[in-house]
Amino acid sequence: MSWQTDWIYSRARMTPNSIAISDPDTGERWTFQEMNSRANKLAVYLQSIGVSKGDRVALLSPNDVSYFDLFFACGKLGAIFVPMNWRLAGEELEYILSDCEPRVLFYHKEVRNIIMGLKRRSLVEVTGNEYKTIMKIGFQNYEEQWVGENDPVAILYTGGTTGKPKGVVLTHQNIFYNMINTITSWSLTSSDATLTYLPMFHTGGLNALSMPVLHVGGKVIIGRKFNPEEAIQRINNEKCTVILLVPTMYHSLINSEAFQQSAFPTMHTFLSGGAPCSYTIYQAFNKKGLLFKEGYGLTEAGPNNFFLNPDSVLSKRGSVGKPMLYNQVAIMKENGTEAAEDEVGELLIKGNHVFSYYWNNEEVTKKTIVDEWLHTGDLSKKDSEGYYYIVGRKKDMIITGGENVYPLEVEHVIAEHDLVDEVAVVGLPDEKWGEVVTAFIVRKQQGTVLEEEITTFCQKKLGKYKVPKKIIFLEELPKTDVGKIDKKALRSNVEKA
Ligand code: ATP
Repeated sequence: MSWQTDWIYSRARMTPNSIAISDPDTGERWTFQEMNSRANKLAVYLQSIGVSKGDRVALLSPNDVSYFDLFFACGKLGAIFVPMNWRLAGEELEYILSDCEPRVLFYHKEVRNIIMGLKRRSLVEVTGNEYKTIMKIGFQNYEEQWVGENDPVAILYTGGTTGKPKGVVLTHQNIFYNMINTITSWSLTSSDATLTYLPMFHTGGLNALSMPVLHVGGKVIIGRKFNPEEAIQRINNEKCTVILLVPTMYHSLINSEAFQQSAFPTMHTFLSGGAPCSYTIYQAFNKKGLLFKEGYGLTEAGPNNFFLNPDSVLSKRGSVGKPMLYNQVAIMKENGTEAAEDEVGELLIKGNHVFSYYWNNEEVTKKTIVDEWLHTGDLSKKDSEGYYYIVGRKKDMIITGGENVYPLEVEHVIAEHDLVDEVAVVGLPDEKWGEVVTAFIVRKQQGTVLEEEITTFCQKKLGKYKVPKKIIFLEELPKTDVGKIDKKALRSNVEKA
């Protein structure tokens, strides 16, 4: 048994009776010993249907204990767990299935209709009662496999904000180092409890906090459909200490009445990640004396990479902090030289938490990992004290009349307007300027704000070329399945119109 490949076994030995997973929707709770035993039973079952080392085991399900069952079972056998995004269209799921060719597909009864709509395949399908039956198997040992730290344990398909989903292959070592980085940076202990609304088919729900919290013997509480009232109730009932949400979830949280009324006595940290976070959200937490921090992550690297120590949160507004324990970071300019202080360049990451390769996609792998450095495609800068700032995606940078504009800078300014609820800035093609800075704005309910007012507001705070030349008001902004603002959809909606 190894701490890197079968850590649920080790954990079950150390804290057998502590609660590992709690599902408030069903009222069920499982201890570490029970989680280990569930994984053993699944391993027995998987072997009985012929799953062996390297085989893929897929899951289609809303957030559920089965994510952990299957992850740990695959870990024991050297099989590869593939959680799939159940909100994808049939064709997209077909694409993933044909890409990773799982030997078995587990699915939750709630997604039966989706499964029925897919092309029938000659793979084993397991759901509902069959799953329960597996969990009733009496004690049996699976045949032990030699599983090494460099063996893959999961393939996570990226959200596809920038194109077709790519299968990010993660090894035991990748998962392990992300856990160690996260535990040490965020000072997690066995007293921690986290509530996970981020989807578990995504790195945010599975790897960012859930795995590290379990690894130290803490508790993971399952959340499914995010709503502020329910989240706050669960935080209080389950005595949560730490939570990770994407900015759009925080946006609805801080605008809820329940937020104004809650003191969150058990919480020590609120974390935001996955997308840029507006200062309004920071302020809402600061006003209540609560610690709110922004993290930066991506499926290919951990996801966690930086940490901000609590004392620096106010003085380093907008920073994601410094690199975590086992993480090497560089900022590279277009010309291949390293960026100086405050200069913007592409963020490169190196470390044992960085993924190995994209499944079936050598070409993109070669472009993404060069000399062991992961090219994140994100722009970043570092200040004189070594604090890092995420400036935005390279692909989203706008070049207008030959000048570079970083959408995030413009977004932060517009978001400060009292009557603006949400904003996204993109570059749209333009004959004269190449691209024009375009702001999509959702207004707050209680007032109307006109295009000219936004322009004047921006002119006071931004250089002329950064001020949006086009402003489009929308009822809402399109979001990805993880809850990020979907800039690809914004652009294509305008092109279609
Ligand atoms: P794809 O890789 O296909 O574009 P995706 O964007 O959903 O899909 P993820 O791994 O979910 O892939 O997201 C990682 C990206 O999210 C990062 O590369 C970065 O652009 C963005 N991101 C994450 N954290 C932050 C942050 N704190 N600030 C700004 N952007 C962030």
